Amino acid sequence: MKKKTIAIVGAGIAGIATAIRLRSQGHSISVFEVNTYPGGKLTAFSEKGYRFDMGPSLFTMPQFVEDLFRVASKPIAEYFAYKKKEVVCNYFYEDGTTFSALADITEFADQASKTFDVEKPVLLDYLNKSKKKYDLTASLFLEKSLHKTATYLSKDTLKAIFNINALDISTTLDDLNTTVFKDERLVQFYNRFATYNGSSPYQTPGIMSMIPHLEQYYGTYFPNGGMHAITQSLFRLSQDIGVEYHFNQNVEEIITKAHKVQGIKVNGVFVEADIVVSNADVVPTYRKLLPNHKAPEKVLKQPRSSSALIFYWGVKQQFSQLDLHNIFFSKDYKTEFDYIFNKKDVYNDPTVYVNITSKEEPNDAPQGCENWFVMINVPSNTGQDWDDIIERSRQHIKEKLNRLLDINLDTLIEYEAILDPRTIESRTQSYQGALYGASSNNKYAAFLRHPNFKNSIKNLYFCGGSVHPGGGIPLCLLSGKIVSELIANQH
Ligand code: FAD
Repeated sequence: MKKKTIAIVGAGIAGIATAIRLRSQGHSISVFEVNTYPGGKLTAFSEKGYRFDMGPSLFTMPQFVEDLFRVASKPIAEYFAYKKKEVVCNYFYEDGTTFSALADITEFADQASKTFDVEKPVLLDYLNKSKKKYDLTASLFLEKSLHKTATYLSKDTLKAIFNINALDISTTLDDLNTTVFKDERLVQFYNRFATYNGSSPYQTPGIMSMIPHLEQYYGTYFPNGGMHAITQSLFRLSQDIGVEYHFNQNVEEIITKAHKVQGIKVNGVFVEADIVVSNADVVPTYRKLLPNHKAPEKVLKQPRSSSALIFYWGVKQQFSQLDLHNIFFSKDYKTEFDYIFNKKDVYNDPTVYVNITSKEEPNDAPQGCENWFVMINVPSNTGQDWDDIIERSRQHIKEKLNRLLDINLDTLIEYEAILDPRTIESRTQSYQGALYGASSNNKYAAFLRHPNFKNSIKNLYFCGGSVHPGGGIPLCLLSGKIVSELIANQH
């Protein structure tokens, strides 16, 4: 293979992963990033003795991170370490129920059958079916381009087609869960996995029930040093193998001639490249960077996934009933998702996620204190009055946590910072501040995500959460794998 000069637009986690793989193939790689730091959504900040991971808090499928060190022939131990979580998450319900979800599947089923109205075999059967869905579809939907004929000519595809009924594509996740479980609390527990890609359980297909299998079987993890360590270690790895970074560089246009990539325009200057990979959100990639090319309107107009409103609170106390991950469920999930996807406002009793990394890394907070990352799911940004939503939400969240934990947060919060859909959008150029690109609120969503290449522009590729196979760290890392394999096969 002839060595190419490749420009990558954006140093998000997908851009960095793609850079590592392409550099390992011997190409010359330059990454252009408008921010002054790498990582995009996967970043962190420190203030007043507290350190906060700004975006993702849940780390699953660490094998995809490990893979990058293998590909680059560097010892992971010198860069990155992580540990498995024995308690996945603590759940709090409005009726007073509390539940600690354990990683071990037998212990989980034991505890769940004691807490909820469910027999152990029903739970184990649900998780087995969830595993089957993943095993049947992972190689097809997640690890290859869905837009190449070869993908459909494989043995795996035929197997998936023969087992199509087991995939629950034509039912919603909520319908599936309501059929299996009679306890509403357990339905809510399993419905919540729709939020892992920013979708609604009342619209996303039942195939999403494969996600609990990923969490239960492959486990959940915490990187030493916090989530930001994923960005930091991969950034360092990429630099060590010779990837070049240009920060504070806004890519203004992808330059093409006769339907072939020529390079990019950065701060008014033309930079030549044989191949361009865009890690920028696919909507601004078309609207801003490819102004003279016909945009795939149907793909770009797919409804966005949810966004998030986050309060980063420095809290002057430690709480033994809380763990790294804690979820305080809303009273009425259906109404909550109706607000997020239809009313474009925030339900007055939203589900609250409280993640506390100082439980794992004591230095993330001053002694005797905790760093609370307090998140609610909110609609993507379509011009709502976010200042008003922030005020109302802060009040609702405080009331809920005070009630369920029997505390008074007004006397405990000594520091606050806020991230909302507007700032997610302005800091990462993600269209409408959506966390995961388009939502998966219909059964065709996987096929309506933008492919990792473009037939009509030679040598242009796409990676990241807004294109195939989707959002979230594991899938973003896989998009880098798909792009690097496409480039290896095509050049
Ligand atoms: P981004 O991180 O959006 O990076 C894109 C980069 O491109 C940015 O740095 C941007 O500045 C740059 N860029 C864009 N346009 C240009 C341009 N024209 N010129 C130069 N640079 C440009 N995922 C999980 O797996 N687990 C979680 O628990 C989880 N929780 C989340 C919570 C929050 C609050 C958020 C925000 C996200 C969460 N996610 C989670 C999703 C996850 O963070 C994303 O899917 C992933 O980080 C996206 O990576 P990316 O590389 O696609 O894009």
